[in-house]
Amino acid sequence: MIDGARPAMIEQAVADGRAPCLATLIERGSYSGEAVSAFPSVTPVCAATIATGLGPDRHQIPSMNWYHRAEGRYVEYGSSFRAALRFGLGRQLTDTIYNMNGAHLAPDALTVFERLDDAGLRTAGTTYLIYRGRHLQQPAHDSTLARIAALALVRRPVMGPRELFYADIFASRDTGCRSTLGMPGVRDRHAGCVGDYLVRHDLFDFLLLSLPDNDNHSHKLGPDSQVAAIAQADRQLARLFEAAGGADPFLEDHAVIVVADHAHTLIERTVSLGSQFAGFDVRRPTDMRPLEPAQIAICPAQRAAMIYVFEPSMLARVTARAQRIDGVDHVIWREGEEAVVARGGAQLRFAPGEQLADLRGRRWTFSGAAEVLDLRVRHGVVRSGEFPDALARVWDATACEPAGEVLLTAAAGVEFTDWGGAGHIGGGSHGSLSAGDSNVPLICCGLEGELNRAQWSIADVAPLITRHFGLD
Ligand SMILES: [Zn+2]
Repeated sequence: MIDGARPAMIEQAVADGRAPCLATLIERGSYSGEAVSAFPSVTPVCAATIATGLGPDRHQIPSMNWYHRAEGRYVEYGSSFRAALRFGLGRQLTDTIYNMNGAHLAPDALTVFERLDDAGLRTAGTTYLIYRGRHLQQPAHDSTLARIAALALVRRPVMGPRELFYADIFASRDTGCRSTLGMPGVRDRHAGCVGDYLVRHDLFDFLLLSLPDNDNHSHKLGPDSQVAAIAQADRQLARLFEAAGGADPFLEDHAVIVVADHAHTLIERTVSLGSQFAGFDVRRPTDMRPLEPAQIAICPAQRAAMIYVFEPSMLARVTARAQRIDGVDHVIWREGEEAVVARGGAQLRFAPGEQLADLRGRRWTFSGAAEVLDLRVRHGVVRSGEFPDALARVWDATACEPAGEVLLTAAAGVEFTDWGGAGHIGGGSHGSLSAGDSNVPLICCGLEGELNRAQWSIADVAPLITRHFGLD
C-alpha cells in the first residue's frame, strides 16, 4: 500500500528506472491506473475499504474528521498536528490508535487479517490505520513512545494480526527496527526493515506492507513531486526481494498486490467552512455541553467535508448556504429514499433501481441533470470520466450511518482548511470525487484466476487476497 500514489507518478517512476521493483511486478503481472478509491477519498475511509473490501456504508468509517452523535463530540483522526491540538492530542491519538479499530470500524466488517486469521494463516502488518485481527497484541514497553509520559495512554493491548508492527507502539517481536515515533520520512524505512526481518525469518503467509511516506511528501511538495517518494517506497520492496535472495525467488513464493488508497491533486487555495457558516451555531471542538438542536457540526476532510444537521428543518438552509460557497463543487444529501447531488445550480437525484447498470454491475435509477456527476449512458450502462464510479461512491457515503447529513466536495484546486486552520496550498491534497483524487494504481502479480474488471476499485483488493488463499 503506497499512500496517495498517483498513477501518472508510478508510470513515470517506472519509465525513469526509479522504481525497478514496481517495473518487475508490472512486467510479470497486470497494471491499471484507473482503480477507483472510496469517497470521501481520504485515508481512514479508504484504508478501511482496502482492509475489508466494503464501502463506508458497511465499514462505518465516515471520514478523517466526524461527529460522534452518541458521544456528542468530534472524532479527529489526524488531519494535521494543529487540528489534533484543537481536539486534544491524547484524544486524537486514542481515537486513531484504539477507537478506529476497536469501536468505530463495524464489528461485522471483517478485515482481511480477521478472515485469514480465522483460516489459520499467518498474518502480519506494518503501521496501517486498520489493523484489526484475531491476535492479542501488547504495547511495547521499551519503545521511545512508551517512555514518553505524556503518551502514557498507549498502554492497552489491541487485537491485531499475528505479527503487528505499528509505529513503535506495537511490535510483536524485537526486529531491531525503529520508526522514531512514526515520523514522516522514516516510516517507509521502518516498514522495509520489518519486512526484511519477516521475510528472512519466514514469519508470514500474508503481509500488509504499508508505505505511508509518499502521502506526506505529496501534501508538502505537490502531486508532481511523487517520483522521489515512490522511488523510496520501491527501495523497501527491494529489501523484501533481497531478503528472499532476489526478485525471482521472492516472486516464486509470493503474489504481490500494489495499491494506493487515493491519489492527489494540486491545491491553489483554501476555503474555511467555519467562516462560511459563521451565521450558524457551529459546535466547537471541545464543547461538551449538551447539543442544542439548532447547532450544526462541521467536519472538513481536505477536499471533502461533512456537515451534521441535528434539526431536520434546518437542512434546506444548510444545503442552500453550501451551494453559495465559492470553492464548493458538489453538495450532497439524502431526501427520503433518494440521494440528491447539487452542483452549479443543477440537481441530480438517484437511488438503487433497475434503470441502468454501472461499470461494477450495481443498478441505479436517476432523474435530473446528468452533468452534475458527468454521467454518460450508453447501451444501458452509466459511466463517468470526471467522477469515476460516482453513483455507488456517493450512495455508500450517504448510507454510512455515522456520516453527516450533508456532504461537500471541493472544486478543482480547492481544499477545506481543517479545524487547526491547516491546508496544503502549493502542495497536493485529496478527498473529492474527481478522477484526480480518486483514480489509483493497482498492480497484481502472481494472482490466480481472472483479473478482468470494467472498473477496478480498491474494494477489490481484500477479495483478491482471500481468493488467493482459497477462501470464499
Ligand atoms: Zn493525505
